[in-house]
Amino acid sequence: MSKLVTIAVPCPLRRGFDYLWPDTLQLDPEIGMRVTIPFGPRRLVGVIIATNVSNDIPSHKMKAVLKVLDTRPTLPPDLVELGCWGAEYYHHPIGDCIQQMLPVTLRKAEQAKERPAQYWQCSDQIHTLPPLSTRAHKQHSLLAIVQQSGQLSRRQIKDLGYSNNILNPLIDGGYLCKADAPSANTAHLQAEKPTLNRGQEAAVDAITATLGRFERFLLDGVTGSGKTEVYLRAIESCLARGEQVLVLIPEIGLTPQTLQRFEQRFPANVSTLHSGLSDGERLHNWQKIQSDEHKIVLGTRSAVFTPFNKLGLIIVDEEHDASYKQQDGWRYSARDIAVKRGSDHHCPVVLGSATPSLDSLHNIAQSRYRLLELRERAGGASAPSIRLLDIRNEPLDDGLSKSLLDATTRTVNAGNQALVFLNRRGFSPQLQCHSCGWLANCQACDAKMTVHFGRRELRCHHCDASEPLPTICPQCHNHQLIYQGPGTERLELSLRRHFPDVPIYRIDRDTTSAKGSMQSLVNDIRTGEPCILVGTQMLAKGHHFPDVTLVGIVDIDGGLFSADFRGPERSGQLLIQVAGRAGRADKPGTVYIQTHCPDHPALQALVNSGYQPFAQQLLAERRLFSLPPISFSAVIRADATSLQGAEDFLEQIKAALPLGDTQWSIVGPLPAPMTRKAGRFRAALILQAERRSLLHTQLHTACHIGDQLNKPQNLRWSVDVDPIDL
Ligand code: ADP
Ligand code: ZN
Ligand code: ZN
Repeated sequence: MSKLVTIAVPCPLRRGFDYLWPDTLQLDPEIGMRVTIPFGPRRLVGVIIATNVSNDIPSHKMKAVLKVLDTRPTLPPDLVELGCWGAEYYHHPIGDCIQQMLPVTLRKAEQAKERPAQYWQCSDQIHTLPPLSTRAHKQHSLLAIVQQSGQLSRRQIKDLGYSNNILNPLIDGGYLCKADAPSANTAHLQAEKPTLNRGQEAAVDAITATLGRFERFLLDGVTGSGKTEVYLRAIESCLARGEQVLVLIPEIGLTPQTLQRFEQRFPANVSTLHSGLSDGERLHNWQKIQSDEHKIVLGTRSAVFTPFNKLGLIIVDEEHDASYKQQDGWRYSARDIAVKRGSDHHCPVVLGSATPSLDSLHNIAQSRYRLLELRERAGGASAPSIRLLDIRNEPLDDGLSKSLLDATTRTVNAGNQALVFLNRRGFSPQLQCHSCGWLANCQACDAKMTVHFGRRELRCHHCDASEPLPTICPQCHNHQLIYQGPGTERLELSLRRHFPDVPIYRIDRDTTSAKGSMQSLVNDIRTGEPCILVGTQMLAKGHHFPDVTLVGIVDIDGGLFSADFRGPERSGQLLIQVAGRAGRADKPGTVYIQTHCPDHPALQALVNSGYQPFAQQLLAERRLFSLPPISFSAVIRADATSLQGAEDFLEQIKAALPLGDTQWSIVGPLPAPMTRKAGRFRAALILQAERRSLLHTQLHTACHIGDQLNKPQNLRWSVDVDPIDL
């Protein structure tokens, strides 16, 4: 009798499929191997998730595996198991979960070719060569970095923000020459290590004492308090045990600075995994870890699925960051999956943040997590002082008050740097006709078009539709078009007018989309010259700007009044993160917050007492109303070409679920906060339960019903467990 295997097939069905394993394959099936299978009229690549399967389908009715693509499992059994767990927990089709865990190259049938990386080192003859021009700043700094690191690959050099235009002349001129790939496992520690302060030492001791068993820590420390140094020391201990380390950082946080710190401390031992890599590079780095050649993974969200040989420590930096949650398809939280992996691998998990999520603070309150606190800034930097600027009735110049402009003047005159923050890119969020009141709305969304002045266009930030910037009102043909409110582009122009002699750097998605451009901006800023930075939340995350002494927050009011109960948590975190950019080194910092509601209790709590009391206050409110993280929730979303279509579908799911009671509630269907997006109408059904198991039972029924229902052809729907927004 033929063997049977269960295959995870990339298709929208919530189950695996059994196939025959013909003897002609001349190989025993193993969990995690990739195979080609017939699926309907198509041939697909699937992954074996179970062997030795039995079912009661007569074998002549079953299809057979066509081809095995691996000689040994591509996905190790622990990851297959994790995928199965994830499919169940997030109520998502197993085939899609398993596929997403694989690097893109391995999702196809062709064998991936590995391209060996090219490494460069400083030439021995460097001193006999003509010196580089003193004006070639970038080349000087690149040479210094290569010298420090020993050898670097072209990719690593690119990651550090140096383009081929900078690198190639150094190679052509003989300053750099080819190097062997750095040998693995030589964790000779090169970089200077600071002496730990008492808080850091206690944290490192606590973590290292738990190596070898599952334990969860929250490392709570203000920006600049030396959390990264704690990670580095804990990693050192873990490597000494011959084990590997997973370090997750937010999407935007993969700053070359962080990478550089890790590379310097652990030369030739770090694999990076993030969206900036090509498919080939991703695969290459993935395999370096699987083969144990590299010991550390530094990566963004999907790096949580890296196959490790022997995982010994997991670190999730900036654990509150929203980018850990995938927002479409399989809506997993990489932070939560990281904790699950820690439990599977019996190793400690350290979640770090200056502004811990309410989830983690609740886990501390429940004694599920252990709290490690760093209360002081490392190296003696002091905390910034925060002032609210009441801008009611104040004349504003492109959104900037006189007090903020004066403070900026004082800052640059004193030779320091100022940072002006507004979480809104573009020139202006709204274009209006002064004569007839016409507003530039998006045709496809319930949203205004944003003015991008430099590009002379209107762009919708929700569906990316764009059109030329009109010069006359399309409705009444009047010329009096007015730009309502500022975006970062407008602030930049305005500041250039006020400070014609000061360099102004704008950092947002529009100015940093080109590869390496962020790093090149950061390099310029870190020369320490007086300058003004203008930007969105990209400025708030992870960067260390030692010469910024003033942070001006142009507008934070929006988030405090958000429709979502999570709004204040998110705005508070952002505000504290931005404020943390001020005075990181030996210079004390000041933060100015412009607001129309200086008496808002949440804002008052934040400014007067800091993040912890503010967060505890929010947590108390969540307890009072039994909102997550006290209770557990999920959102079932649907979108269709009419709101009615989306709501009807959700209504039918709701009808199949029990009525709400004291332990469980169901709200909706409600139109989503932005009901129409990219031409589709969106509605949501919100489920909430006292116990997680109860939530899962209901979701199970809901998915079963949703799968069976007759749906209008273009209806799409999805399940979001532990959602981070409505
Ligand atoms: P965080 O990750 O909390 O923002 P970092 O670990 O990046 O903090 O530390 C901030 C700065 O302080 C870095 O430049 C780091 O090198 C330095 N630093 C960290 N720990 C110490 C220490 N014990 N003594 C002196 N400097 C330190
Ligand atoms: Zn008009
Ligand atoms: Zn739109």
